[in-house]
Amino acid sequence: MLKFIVTMITISKEDYLKEIYALSLFTDEPVSTSKIAEKLNITNAATSDMAKKLSALDLLSYEKYKGVKLTEKGRTIALNTIRRHRLWETFLIKTLGLNWGEVHDEAEVLEHQTSEFLMDRIDQFLNFPEFDPHGDPIPTKEGLMPVLPEVVCLTEAEIGKTYIIQKVDHDNKEVMDYFTKLGIELYSEIALEDRMKFDNSVFVSINNIRHTFSQQVASKLFVVNKNI
Ligand SMILES: [Zn+2]
Repeated sequence: MLKFIVTMITISKEDYLKEIYALSLFTDEPVSTSKIAEKLNITNAATSDMAKKLSALDLLSYEKYKGVKLTEKGRTIALNTIRRHRLWETFLIKTLGLNWGEVHDEAEVLEHQTSEFLMDRIDQFLNFPEFDPHGDPIPTKEGLMPVLPEVVCLTEAEIGKTYIIQKVDHDNKEVMDYFTKLGIELYSEIALEDRMKFDNSVFVSINNIRHTFSQQVASKLFVVNKNI
């Protein structure tokens, strides 16, 4: 039955389910359709239309003025799409040598085009990785999400401490290209030297080189304390 549902889902529907999953991560409340519209850069009307369609397929529950919640079936498809995305990014970086900024757009396309058979082979070839090269957990075939170590955003980290980069938000290609240019990778060491109170920009030291990051750039990096 699930296989039937998966084949019926078009690209935009999978993206829609994936976005609801991401927006529901830290709340039990329904996700508002206007929030989804904002994230996916589509109109509120298009979002409500899609909510009705997916509700008819039993992939989510939709209450006008309240928002949407994924059903178990919808959650399974969202997790499967995330799994394909993250496995592709891992594969492209590890085997083809693509960099942080290059893989996301490719994975956005491939995640909708790959059979379960090929995905399982790629997973096996990569030796069943738990995290992708951006530090995001890769759901297992059974839909279990590996637990990420407790991270703190660099914007909230303590001045004078040294951290390890554990995760990077990679939706902005320009920022990712900038990190690559600076030689920043996952698990790079980063010392937080100072933070400017007037705009929250930070002074950091990476590989003994000093950089200044705006608050927007710093907000992409998630770190753990080196000495824990
Ligand atoms: Zn990505």
